[in-house]
Amino acid sequence: LLGADGRLGVTIFEEMTGLAARHGAVNLGQGFPDEDGPAAMMEAVRAAVLAGANQYAPGQGLPVLREAVAAHQERFYGIRLDPAREVIISTGATEGIAAAVLALAGPGDQVLTFEPFYDSYGAMIALAGAEHTTVPLHAPSFQPDPAQLEAAFGPRTRVVIVNNPHNPTGAVFSRETLSQIVSLAARHDAVIVTDEVYEHLVFGAPHLPVASLPGAAERTVTVSSAGKTFSFTGWKVGWVAGPEELVARIRTIKQFLTYSSGTPFQAAVAGGLGYPDEFFSDTAAALRSKRDILAEGLRASGLEVYVPEGTYFITADAAALGVDDALGLARRLPELVGVAAIPVSVFCHAEGAARTRSLLRFAFCKKEPVLHEAAGRIARMAS
Ligand code: PMP
Ligand code: GLN
Repeated sequence: LLGADGRLGVTIFEEMTGLAARHGAVNLGQGFPDEDGPAAMMEAVRAAVLAGANQYAPGQGLPVLREAVAAHQERFYGIRLDPAREVIISTGATEGIAAAVLALAGPGDQVLTFEPFYDSYGAMIALAGAEHTTVPLHAPSFQPDPAQLEAAFGPRTRVVIVNNPHNPTGAVFSRETLSQIVSLAARHDAVIVTDEVYEHLVFGAPHLPVASLPGAAERTVTVSSAGKTFSFTGWKVGWVAGPEELVARIRTIKQFLTYSSGTPFQAAVAGGLGYPDEFFSDTAAALRSKRDILAEGLRASGLEVYVPEGTYFITADAAALGVDDALGLARRLPELVGVAAIPVSVFCHAEGAARTRSLLRFAFCKKEPVLHEAAGRIARMAS
């Protein structure tokens, strides 16, 4: 699994968070908020612990949380799920993705992702022994080209992993793109695994889940988690939802990865999923203001900014500042200017890494004064 550069040895997130801590830098690298989510959810964890929710949860997840996930999918998207057979709880989206890839792909199969891709996809496809094929996303829109998308599918494409809203670019795929993915997956009899962890962190049109599109539900496995929606990334409560037959295969793998996931956190997340619509829209609106502050700061520093439609992340091009090696720059940035960022090339194979070599990803899920401070420091980099 170790690349020639040892890249899978330590994830980039760990490396950059370590560098940020060492140099006292503002950490806009790893995507996690610097404020806790709802106090009532924290109280709910405490109450669950004190009430004795301290032993293994059922492997499939607490019934109350599976029911809450099903109710959430119906309330926001009109997707109907049987919580007994079509939903399982995972240890974060990460485990859901891992179990899905291991269950659905193996040697001789191809798994298609967009590129740049979230790092765990590449690692899990390798662990499954499958071949990883990609479709490039190009600035400024980071939408796939329809002809390249069609050409990327082949007879060995067993799984296509969609990530919408997209980490690291912040792109939100259009309905046309998502529909094309569904029809190509149907034509090639591939399963769609869709990672929608940023479903509630969108700044324009409401989120459009793949599973809600015509013809998609029968072949789509949706993965999401509570981490981003509720600003509790450390709780690691996620879920997998889809047709019974696919979910059963994923559950088989899941039981040997972690067996089950943190009982008191599951109970608290069940409550959060039932919050009124305004909770979710207010979270997105607050994040949108943060996005605008950081985008303005980066722009003022001379970077070319690709304003994201969703997620925690802004992608910016440092080429205008004469930067041709964002990876090298990101490794020096915490010491040089006191800010940590993630180079986009680490989410790519070699060709994609060359294409994205001057791009940096900055997380804006931070308090507003922190973002202003970071913007000021980055401005010094430009001068
Ligand atoms: N998928 C994407 C696209 C992510 O950005 C992240 C983490 N930020 C995850 C999955 C992992 O989610 P979790 O922490 O719930 O495992
Ligand atoms: N998903 C988070 C990010 O993209 C990091 C999660 C991790 O550290 N693996 O920044």
